Amino acid sequence: MNQESVAFFRSEYPQWWHPKLEEFPDGWTDLLAEFFHALDRLNSPVSQQRVWVSVYFEQSEIGPWKAYIAPEVRMKDWTDGDVLHLIRTVEVFNGGMSHTCEICGVFNGWPRLQPKPERILCEEHRHAY
Ligand SMILES: [Zn+2]
Repeated sequence: MNQESVAFFRSEYPQWWHPKLEEFPDGWTDLLAEFFHALDRLNSPVSQQRVWVSVYFEQSEIGPWKAYIAPEVRMKDWTDGDVLHLIRTVEVFNGGMSHTCEICGVFNGWPRLQPKPERILCEEHRHAY
């Protein structure tokens, strides 16, 4: 991830920033921004602002990244709509990385399994690295 993106995420979303995200591919930073923005939407404009979930990112040894979330707010404070929004947000983010080029962010990437680690690359980039 470039330093401009690092600075953006650290200032906008310190509650979810983790240094390991500095290794996160440039092509996926828009997905990450949309993910954090969607998580932030769990706050309504009128209620007390809080962090509803913690987020943990894992990069497997063979390549793919995945986000896991854990609730930080008591169950009674969640509406059914909040829960559905959260599940959808995680699905969109984790699924999006399977189709988005790691380098340029074009949404027509597909897995290149060899050589390891696996990478999601568009047609233009899959032979360049
Ligand atoms: Zn590409």
